[in-house]
Amino acid sequence: MLEQVKHVILVLSGKGGVGKSTVSTQLALTLKESGFKVGLLDIDLCGPSVAYLMNLEDKDVHQSSEGWVPIYTDSTKSLAVMSIGFLLKSRNDAIIWRGPKKTAMIRQFLSDVCWEELDYLIIDTPPGTSDEHITVMECMREVKCDGAIIVTTPQEVALEDVRKEVTFCKKTGISIIGIVENMSGFVCPNCAECTNIFSSGGGKALAELVKVPLLGTLPIDPRVGALGGTGKACVKELSDCTSSIVFKDIVKHL
Ligand code: ADP
Repeated sequence: MLEQVKHVILVLSGKGGVGKSTVSTQLALTLKESGFKVGLLDIDLCGPSVAYLMNLEDKDVHQSSEGWVPIYTDSTKSLAVMSIGFLLKSRNDAIIWRGPKKTAMIRQFLSDVCWEELDYLIIDTPPGTSDEHITVMECMREVKCDGAIIVTTPQEVALEDVRKEVTFCKKTGISIIGIVENMSGFVCPNCAECTNIFSSGGGKALAELVKVPLLGTLPIDPRVGALGGTGKACVKELSDCTSSIVFKDIVKHL
């Protein structure tokens, strides 16, 4: 039920572990802090981490006559979350499904959640360009999707996958809002010097090559990592850190 959603944004990545769910959750939390009504939908069936990142793992979703009722993070009801993680009995349970079952579940996730009026719906997708993505892209044609944010790390192997992701978006007609380069250098907590553990500038070069905006570069920040599992917004908790500024800037592009 996406009729009442004003903006739908997909978060994609070529690889797992690059920070896609961290970016999705922090974007949703930043939008909430900015006064918007937000939904966060996790359709990463094989690695759903949004329930954990948002500190909602003990919550159960309920099914009403209208469909699934998402979990609200607080009484203001300004952030609603839905994830396959809520439907698993334990965090260690694995989804071992073939393509058609996954496709059916994703379709149900995209059509049967009772979102109330939302300004933004952020959709955290699985990494890659597989069956699940084709389903998402097909469903996105039926709704007004603003486009995709692609998350990468600066290493060449990750960037190579982003090029594939860009091609996939172009072929399936999804516009690209921009690229976020995560884990872009490590800022020493003692001396504040930034060390580029991986190569640097890859996200910028790629963004120029494929002619899409580079929305921001996020450093490796142990404080950002530590917010995972708390459901707290970087922009509120770490207002002095680079990442919080980057998230505020990304939101300005939406
Ligand atoms: P993905 O969704 O791409 O698989 P996650 O968002 O789950 O990746 O991130 C993988 C791990 O890296 C998590 O433990 C997360 O807390 C950590 N992480 C992600 N981005 C950062 C960052 N900028 N600084 C520190 N830790 C990060």
